Amino acid sequence: MSAIWHPFTQHGLGEPIPLVTHAEGAALFTADGRRIIDGISSWWVTTHGHGHPRIVAAIAAQAQRLDQIIFAGWTHEPAETLAAGLRAIIPEPLTRVFFSDSGSTSVEVALKMALGFWANRGAPRQRILVLEHSYHGDTIGAMSVGARGVFNQAYAPLLFDVGTIPFPMAGGEQATLDALEAACRAQPAAFIVEPLVLGAGGMLIYPAWVLTEMHAICARHGVLFIADEVMTAWGRTGTLLACEQAGVVPDILCLSKGLTGGAMPLAVTMAREEIYAAHLSTDRARMFFHSSSYTANPIACAAANANLAIWREEPVLAQIADLAARQAGHLAALAALPGVTGARAIGTITALDIAGNAQGYLSALWPQLLAFFRERDLLIRPLGNTVYVMPPYCIDEGDLALVYAGIGAAIEMAQG
Ligand SMILES: *Cc1c(COP(=O)(O)O)cnc(C)c1O
Repeated sequence: MSAIWHPFTQHGLGEPIPLVTHAEGAALFTADGRRIIDGISSWWVTTHGHGHPRIVAAIAAQAQRLDQIIFAGWTHEPAETLAAGLRAIIPEPLTRVFFSDSGSTSVEVALKMALGFWANRGAPRQRILVLEHSYHGDTIGAMSVGARGVFNQAYAPLLFDVGTIPFPMAGGEQATLDALEAACRAQPAAFIVEPLVLGAGGMLIYPAWVLTEMHAICARHGVLFIADEVMTAWGRTGTLLACEQAGVVPDILCLSKGLTGGAMPLAVTMAREEIYAAHLSTDRARMFFHSSSYTANPIACAAANANLAIWREEPVLAQIADLAARQAGHLAALAALPGVTGARAIGTITALDIAGNAQGYLSALWPQLLAFFRERDLLIRPLGNTVYVMPPYCIDEGDLALVYAGIGAAIEMAQG
């Protein structure tokens, strides 16, 4: 009996927990000899596929050279190369790169930068605006700016109060923009948003023009605009950053998940020069008070540098466009099935909702779906009744067809 307490797992239900021994491309291999197709990029991180040779080689070489070094007051070549590499591909106004080690911490850092900015300018602001159904991570600060529900009810008294802007449902976009405009008049510190698609909230997609307008409203009112691209970046939505599709450059940008191609934990929060400048002083009380032990770990940075080299030298965007086109065909076939609603897609992500009486996070259908996919050697983890596909970009047509055939069978099972 394992001593491990798994994340987001109800051990009392006794669901089997497969032991994975190795992985390659879009395939995972288990100790009991099964080959599992990774339909969700191992929870949205594995962009180019498991064990990409260039990333693996970079990790091995760096591990032999320099494993770890304090990052307060010290630096190293992989971090310098990564910061320069990010500056070269991320919009130019985002001049500063702050390292951390997960999406949640990149969000905490972004929030602290925003509050530090206002405090150091002598005009303190604390209120944060968020979009309804958002997810930004599981630490207390990140949960505070995310949707409230059963998954954070026990901690609710510790979560800080935020201003929630309604999600821009089709036809309701103007209501979202009006609510944001009204909330911005009260001079909040920042608005944090997942660009174009809300991931954990149910793969909820909204149009690029709404993102453009939301950014314009914040800019007009001097409210800092934080883009949480932890899931959406690195080609997930069809472009390097989702913000690109809206012509938006945020004031603060959070990146993690695909930053290392999904091989190592690493995150960055990038900021405009004014935000850095607000902390720049000879006064130590104005420095940015944040660190974690593994900030800019050299091995993780080396993996990220290999990811950037892949983006520079390999036809990643063409591979993404090809995957998106192939998925569109599969999705259209499923969308025609009885019991399917809300078929939607953006970039390499597709999603649909399966009709059922209990919707939402504790949907009765969810454990059945999870078991159904596991028994068919598919790693697919629905969000309530929402089934989505977010594969590694290297997935071949045979495996992709198996993923969609599995979902088709699950839809049929749910109706019967
Ligand atoms: C996954 C995710 C996070 C949290 O990242 P972790 O690395 O799991 O802490 C934050 N924001 C978004 C949009 C995410 O999808």
